[in-house]
Amino acid sequence: MAAMGNVIGLVNRIQRACTVLGDHGGDGALPTLWEALPSVAVVGGQSSGKSSVLESIVGRDFLPRGSGIVTRRPLVLQLHKTEEGEKDYAEFMHMPRRRFTDFALVRKEIEDETDRLTGRTKQISPVPIHLSIYSPNVVNLTLIDLPGLTKVAIEGQPETIVEDIENMVRLHVDKPNCIILAISPANQDIATSDAIKLAREVDPTGERTFGVLTKLDLMDKGTNALDVLEGRAYRLQHPWVGIVNRSQADINRNVDMIIARKKEQEFFASSPEYAHLASRMGSEYLAKLLSQELEAVIRARIPSITSLINKTIDELESEMDHLGRPIASDAGAQLYLILELCRAFDKIFKEHLDGGRPGGDRIYGVFDNQLPSALRKLPFDRYLSLQNVKRVVSEADGYQPHLIAPEQGYRRLIESGLKYFRGPAEASVDAVHLVLKELELKRFPTLQKELAAACYQALERFREDGHKTALRLVDMESMYLTVDFFRKLPQEVDKAGTGSPPTPAVDRYTDTHFRRIASNVSSYIGMVSETLKNTIPKAVVHCQVREAKRSLLNYFYTQVGSKDAKQLALLLDEDPNLMDRRQQCFKRLELYKSARSEIDAVSWAR
Ligand code: GDP
Ligand code: MG
Repeated sequence: MAAMGNVIGLVNRIQRACTVLGDHGGDGALPTLWEALPSVAVVGGQSSGKSSVLESIVGRDFLPRGSGIVTRRPLVLQLHKTEEGEKDYAEFMHMPRRRFTDFALVRKEIEDETDRLTGRTKQISPVPIHLSIYSPNVVNLTLIDLPGLTKVAIEGQPETIVEDIENMVRLHVDKPNCIILAISPANQDIATSDAIKLAREVDPTGERTFGVLTKLDLMDKGTNALDVLEGRAYRLQHPWVGIVNRSQADINRNVDMIIARKKEQEFFASSPEYAHLASRMGSEYLAKLLSQELEAVIRARIPSITSLINKTIDELESEMDHLGRPIASDAGAQLYLILELCRAFDKIFKEHLDGGRPGGDRIYGVFDNQLPSALRKLPFDRYLSLQNVKRVVSEADGYQPHLIAPEQGYRRLIESGLKYFRGPAEASVDAVHLVLKELELKRFPTLQKELAAACYQALERFREDGHKTALRLVDMESMYLTVDFFRKLPQEVDKAGTGSPPTPAVDRYTDTHFRRIASNVSSYIGMVSETLKNTIPKAVVHCQVREAKRSLLNYFYTQVGSKDAKQLALLLDEDPNLMDRRQQCFKRLELYKSARSEIDAVSWAR
C-alpha cells in the first residue's frame, strides 16, 4: 500500500510541477509529459451526480453545485493522503501561497476562478482549475471533474455549447491512459446514458471505463439496478459500482460528508436487493478501486514514461548547453561562476598563443615578417649619406679635427643611428599588443565588458613593460659600443691610409674617407639590427605574451574577489529574456530529473 501511495503521489507531483510550469496546455493542447501521465476523468450527463461522486470520494463538501451547468471549466483535483491526525487543507495552483482550511471558501474560489475566465455567463472554458486537497481521509488520486454532457443549448449559451462540451470531454477521455469514470444516474435508463455512450466510443472494449451508478436511492419503488450493477445490462471489464450521494435536501441541510458515507454504507447493507454486493458498493470502495487501478495503469506506463522523460532530459540538456548554465543567486556561487568564465576565457587565450588557434601564428608573423621588414626599411641610406656623415663627423670634431679615426664622430653617428630602432621596437610591442587584444574577447557577452576592460588594462600594463624593455635593448646597444669593432677601425684606416700621419686639416679628408666611415657605421648598425631582430621578440614574449598567459586576469581576480553580492550580480547581469528562458528550461530540467529519480525509486521498490 505504501508503494501505491508513492507511485500515485509521484504522478501527482509531476503533474503539479507540469502545471506550475505552464505545461498543462490550457487551450486544448496537452503537453507531452502531462499527456503521458494517467489520470481519472469524471464523465456524465448534466446533474448525473459527477460532482457529488467527487465530493464523496474526497469526503469533503467543496464543489459548486446546483441545477443547470455549474462545472464550466475542468477541475483537476489532486488528492494527497497525509498522516493520520493532520488537518485537511486545500491549495489552488493559481494562488500557491494560500492554504484553505474552510472548504466553503474553496467552493467560492472555484466559482470565482471559473468566472474569471468565462465571465458570469453560462459559457465554458477548457482551461483547467487545479486544486490539491491534503487529508488523512483521502487516497492518493488525481481526478478531473468535467462539465456535464448536454443535449441542447439553453438560454444564454452559444449554439455550439453541446459540441464544445463534448469536444472538451473527449480531449481528456481520448487519451489511452485516461481512466474514465462514467457516471450514470440509476433513475434513468442506462440505454440513455451520455456517459456510457461516450465511453463506448473511446473505449469500446471497456478496459479503462469504470461504470458508476448514482441515485440508487431515487429509483422508483419496485425497481432495482441489479441488471446494471451485476454487469448484465452493459458489460464492462471492471465491476460496476453503485453510489448513494447526498440528495439536494441533504446538501441544503448541510449533512456532513462522513455521515453521508455511513448512511450510504447502511443503505447497501440494509437493502434486501443490494446486501450481497454491499462490500463492493459505495464511494469509499470506489475511491480505493480507482486508486488501485490508477496505480496499475501508472506501473504499466512507467517504461514509456521513463523513456519520454529521458528523451526530454536530453533535449533540455542540450538546450541548457545552448543557453548556458543558470546563474546561482548567492554571492559565493556567482563568484565561482565568474571565475570559471574567466578561466575558460584565459584558457582559450592561451590556446591562441600556444597554437591551434590563430593568435600564436599572428604573433609569430610579427616577429618573422613585420619586425625584419621594418628594420630593413629604416632610412639608413639617407642617414649615412656622405653629406650627413660629413656633417655629423665635423660637428663632433668641433674645433679639433680628428687624427686617425673620428671616434666622437663614430659614436655620434652610431648613437643617433640606433635611435631609428626605437620605432620598430615599439611597433613590435604594439603589434603583439593588438593581437593579444583581439583574442576572443567577444565570447562571453555577459562578462564581456568588464572582462574586456580588465584584459585591456592588463595588456596595457604588459605593453608598457614591453615598450620599456624593448627600448632599453635599443638603448643598451647605443650605450656601449662593441669594443672589437673599434679595435678594428684604426687598422683599417692605416691600411687604407697614406702611410704618413695625416695632417689635421679639414680639407685633407677625402670623400673616400667619409665613405669609409659611413660604411663602417653601416656595418655596425647592421650588426645591431641583426641582434635586435632576435632580442626584440624575446623582450615582447617575455613582457607581453608570457605575462598574458601567466597573469592576464590576476588583477581582475583580486578585483572580483572584493566585490559584494550586489556587484557580482550586476556583473552577471544578463539579457532578461535569455534569463527567463534559461530559468524555465532549468526548472523543467529539474522537474524531469526529479521525476526520473522518483520513478526509478518506485519501480525498484516493487
Ligand atoms: P453533476 O452536474 O453531474 O455534477 O451533478 P451533481 O453532483 O451536481 O448532482 C446533481 C444533483 O443530484 C444534486 O442536487 C445532488 O444532490 C443530486 N444527487 C446526486 N447524486 C445523488 C444521489 O445519489 N442521491 C440523491 N438523492 N441525490 C443525488
Ligand atoms: Mg458538476
